[in-house]
This record gives sequence, C-alpha cells and structure tokens, in this order.
Amino acid sequence: MGAGESGVGAALLAKKKGFEVFVSDFGKIKETYKQVLIHHEILWEEEGHTLKTILQADEVVKSPGIPETASVIKTLKAIAVPVISEIEFASRYTNATLIAITGSNGKTTTATITYELLKQGGLDVELAGNIGDSFAKKVAETNTKNYVLEVSSFQLDGIKTFAPHIAVLTNLSPDHLDRYANNYKQYIASKFRIVMNQTPTDYFIYDADDETIANWLSTHTIKSQLLPFSISKKLERGTYIENNKIIINLNNKIQIMPVSTLNLQGKHNLKNAMAAGTVAKLLDIRKETIRQCLESFHGVEHRLEKVLKINNVQYINDSKATNVNATYYALESMSSPTIWIVGGEDKGNNYEELLPFVNEKVRAIICLGLDSQKIINAFGNIVDVMVETHQMTDAVKIAYQLAKRGDTVLLSPACASFDLFENYEDRGRQFKEAVRNL
Ligand code: ADP
Repeated sequence: MGAGESGVGAALLAKKKGFEVFVSDFGKIKETYKQVLIHHEILWEEEGHTLKTILQADEVVKSPGIPETASVIKTLKAIAVPVISEIEFASRYTNATLIAITGSNGKTTTATITYELLKQGGLDVELAGNIGDSFAKKVAETNTKNYVLEVSSFQLDGIKTFAPHIAVLTNLSPDHLDRYANNYKQYIASKFRIVMNQTPTDYFIYDADDETIANWLSTHTIKSQLLPFSISKKLERGTYIENNKIIINLNNKIQIMPVSTLNLQGKHNLKNAMAAGTVAKLLDIRKETIRQCLESFHGVEHRLEKVLKINNVQYINDSKATNVNATYYALESMSSPTIWIVGGEDKGNNYEELLPFVNEKVRAIICLGLDSQKIINAFGNIVDVMVETHQMTDAVKIAYQLAKRGDTVLLSPACASFDLFENYEDRGRQFKEAVRNL
C-alpha cells in the first residue's frame, strides 16, 4: 500500500523473493516510481484501491504515510490480514547488523554522522530508511554487513520482529500527534518499540538528559544494555563530558576529543555526535578515526547550514526545523544578534519555551507563512520589529535590510512548510537562492 520510496522498495524486494506483488496507491504515483514498477514487471494501480484484489493478500506492507485509520487498513485488519511496515519486511531478508536511529529531532544528522564514522572506520556499511533509499530497496540490491537506518515512529508502528543490534533514541518531544489521537503517550510508546525485540546482547543508546526518556525508562524494563549519553552529568557507563572533553566509557574510559574541536555547532549537535560516537566505539572504530571524522563533519543540508556571509552577516538555513524543539536548539546556538525568519503551517505549536532566547538574541522577526497571527501574539511584546511576508524573496530582502554587521539571519521556521512550499527542502533551497541573489 503506497508507492513512494518505501512502498516501491518493498515491492522490489518482494518481487525478488518470488512473491506475487501488487502495488496500490490512493493518489497519483510519481513517474519515476511508475517506471521502476513497470521495468520490474510489478503490477500496480493508482488513484484508488481495488479492494477485491487487496483483500486477497497474504500480507500487506503499508507505507508510513498511510494512517492506521485509513478505511482500507481498517478493513484489512478486520479480516485479519497482517499489515506490516517496510522495515519489518526488509529485516527478514538480511543478516546484517542493524543500527536503527529514531527520535523526534536529530535522526538524519545522527544517522549521517554514524554512517560516516563506520565507513571511515573501514566497515562495509549502507545508510538507508527515511534518508535516501529505502531499507527494502537496499536489501534487494546490495549485500552489506551493516545498515545504519533512520527510522520513524510510523515505521516502528508496523514492526513485529525487527530487532536492531544497536538502537538509538535521540530525544522525545511532541510531534505528529495528529497521527496518535493527540496523545503524546501513544507517540512515546511508538518510539520505544525500537527496543521491543532487542535481547541482552543488544544496545540501547539514549539521551539521559531527556526527561521524557528518563521517565519512561523508570517505569519500564528493557532487555538490551543501556548506554546513555549526557552533556550535564558524569555516567558510570555511557558517554559524557569531562573537562570539556567527550568521554566514552563502555568497558574502559576513553577520551575522544575536546568539545571545542567538533566541527558542528550547537548543543544538539554535540549530543548527536556523542550518540554516533558511541555506536562507532561499540563497533570497535578507533578513537583517532572518530576524532578526525567529527572534526571534519560539516553537517547535512537544511540543518543549521551556513549559506553565505554578506556584509559580515551570516545567513543560516535551518529549514528542517519543522517543530518548536528543533528551533529551540537553533536559537540556543546563536551567538550574535539574530534576524529570525519563522512560520509556516502550525502543528499546534507552543512557543513559550523559546521566549528567553528570543528575548536575549532576536533583533527582529520576519514571519513567513499564510497565517502569522500566532507568532505575532507570542512574540509581539518582546520583539520591536515584526514583519509579515508571504514569499521567501521578500523575507530575505527584508532580513538583508534589517541586519547589521555581525548579525545572523536565521531561517528556522518551527513549522511545516506546506502552506507556501512543496516541502522543507524546497523552502531551504528557495532561501539559499534568495540569499545568493542578494
Ligand atoms: P530528523 O531527521 O529527526 O528530522 P534532522 O537531523 O533532520 O532530524 O534535524 C531536524 C531539525 O532538528 C534541524 O533543524 C536540526 O538543526 C534540529 N536538530 C538536530 N539534532 C537535534 C537534536 N538532537 N535535538 C533537537 N534538535 C535537533
């Protein structure tokens, strides 16, 4: 069900394994995916589901974008057809070591750093999941010993036996609650499914400073070995900071590097690097390799990405900040007066936690969205200059006019992008283009 990256990947793998495969999508299928299906002689339909055919399935692989409440899924479940996710399906056909990374923010960054560390450490490794190719497609087309997988809560909802050797939970904050009956507890439970099939020889790496994670762990037992990381306290086992150096203590204490030589900015990225470093150490990557890699890793596009410096003003693209928590870390990491471009499709945001940073660092707010009233209500009292815009080029031009030497112009929207843009990538690219055209 669903013919995007994950559905088409699952279809390819299923076909390769000798199943009769049928792909059904309620919407229109992208041309590139259609061509893949045709090329592999896989049957498909679009703009509707033929129930008669679908209900005959032995098993259904559901794409993460389709909610459990979709009527076709409900019907399948009512007649007891198993419905699984693509990572569940793919994991049946590989014996590779699985490193699965989930969390509300930082998944892509942590997965990418982890992949770089393992690759530079000489391991046979692929990066897949919510990033680039689907896991199923990789399993169908390559034979790799290690997979670093970026995994969403929707993918985890459809697992039965999926068991990563190393699971990473970067953090938890409310997101996608529309898919969890507006119930934060359900979303948390869904994220923790990442550990449900682990055994005592597996590992669970998590942020020990995250209260929601700590609370959950205090009331649940998990079978795998806990490896916390923390930037605020020393740990008996795990990864922490001592004298401004990153320490990984698994069986013995190893000093990796000074925090100051990490190339990425911000506390959140320090955490991501610590999580990735812990995975690397578990897989016996040398500390010199970890250090060199973390010194040179310059981040992922649209995540606190430095674009240009014009008239001594730094322009930063953080378009991927689609929720308040991600923007919190962006504002926290600002070290100069900031012109902040914010707004878009609000997902029930509460801006309160941003107030101290905005008060301290933000010189002007440029709203970019169809409806900016909530942002104006939240910050109107503490920021003197507030401008409403509906186009990226306007927002960037106004930022340029307002910025003084030494300032930063930060696009960190705290909102989804779908009111004015195709997606967050489109928003980020438009920002960069507008900056380059200044
Ligand atoms: P995800 O894949 O979970 O969406 P990304 O690595 O793409 O995460 O980052 C999404 C946004 O969250 C970016 O704006 C980024 O700067 C911010 N971010 C990255 N890591 C963290 C973290 N550990 N905690 C909070 N925010 C983060």
